[in-house]
Amino acid sequence: MAKCAICGNRIEELFLGKIKGTIIKGKTVCSDCQRKYKENFLEQL
Ligand SMILES: [Zn+2]
Repeated sequence: MAKCAICGNRIEELFLGKIKGTIIKGKTVCSDCQRKYKENFLEQL
């Protein structure tokens, strides 16, 4: 089960291997954190 690299929440998996969020540099980020933080911050993880 995927976990968000920022808040640690579980990330729901959708069908066909998609997740409710994004993967940045190999780290999974939930859709909430994706909205909350700007992309340039997420790239520094
Ligand atoms: Zn999160």
